[in-house]
Amino acid sequence: MKLFDVYPLYDVEPVNAYDCIVVDKNGIEYLDLYGGHAVISIGHSHPHYAKKLKCQIEKIGFYSNAVQNSMQLQLAEKLGKLSGYNDYQLFLCNSGAEANENALKLASFYTNKSRVIAFNNGFHGRTSAAVAATDNLKINAPLNKQQEVTFLPLNEIDLVKEELQKGDVCSVIIEPIQGVGGLDEGTTDFFQQLETLCHEFGAVLILDEVQSGYGRTGKFFAHQYHGITPDIISIAKGMGNGFPIGGIMIAPHIQPSYGLLGTTFGGNHLACAAALAVLDVIETENLIDNAKLSGEYFISIANKVPGVQLVKGKGLMLGLEFDFEVGDLRKKLIYDQHIFTGGAMNKKLLRILPPLTVGKKEIDQFIKALQNVLIVEKV
Ligand code: PLP
Repeated sequence: MKLFDVYPLYDVEPVNAYDCIVVDKNGIEYLDLYGGHAVISIGHSHPHYAKKLKCQIEKIGFYSNAVQNSMQLQLAEKLGKLSGYNDYQLFLCNSGAEANENALKLASFYTNKSRVIAFNNGFHGRTSAAVAATDNLKINAPLNKQQEVTFLPLNEIDLVKEELQKGDVCSVIIEPIQGVGGLDEGTTDFFQQLETLCHEFGAVLILDEVQSGYGRTGKFFAHQYHGITPDIISIAKGMGNGFPIGGIMIAPHIQPSYGLLGTTFGGNHLACAAALAVLDVIETENLIDNAKLSGEYFISIANKVPGVQLVKGKGLMLGLEFDFEVGDLRKKLIYDQHIFTGGAMNKKLLRILPPLTVGKKEIDQFIKALQNVLIVEKV
């Protein structure tokens, strides 16, 4: 059988990795400033993480959600403490798309309404609120026909109000900083008015922190820059440092009932061991502070690189905008400079999503390599 060919592939095969370094099958080392789409939070193969996973698989890796699993409680407690959401409730699943599907479903059950408001260039996984049709992501229609999605421009609060006034909206879903879409973000004023309007019209405010969460932007959650408290927060990616796990954090006023949500694999022992190890390391190594400081350092020097038009984002969720499409630049960075970076729907944006352990040394290495490619190769 061959693979269903949906991914254009770079000709590199990683077989080993540690911290911010990925090693390919020929022994070549690459600086990983992409972390496989913002997934690697605490660095590749962190010793504490490796040890916790190994110990767990030797005990029990999985049983069903029909029996007690105190690891889920430990995870909920630790996540509540570190994120500042002690009084929220945690539902565990396996990916970002699944987290958002559950968030949208729950909002619909809670409000007994079904229409969703999302924002242009937002990305919430291959879900009901899939981004509107784009060139490189051919997602043309909501997957779940029961939930109609209305896409609006960011920062246009009057348009949101117009839609909410119609009375059929169950939820508004928004990323605090757009990831795949290209790092645009709402203003604090917009987020605060959005929260007020959701309360006024009884819609559930869902903050999709799948990419921006878990310390990446220099706070545990990026929406915490705006002083808002969402009804539901979706999480995944950095949560497991590569082990598939996602979840939704649910405000106390949304009450559970048996059978409301469910999953086979979500919250299994191995996934919880991975997620607990990630939180241990984020806490003990002060990775949220590091994300903030390293991000500030990155922005200050990237802004001075000739050819960089704009540096977008916060902490270690960053994008460099050029006045040309960056496909070739990314190839040169990988093949000539041995550095992984990312692209976006905005083809002129180079995305930087390194492990939260990244420091000055790696950032200087990247800036030098970028200058080499931009000046010497004249991309
Ligand atoms: N939400 C956001 C903001 C994302 O960036 C992504 C993936 O890039 C998803 C949801 C979907 O996550 P997953 O690929 O784990 O389903």
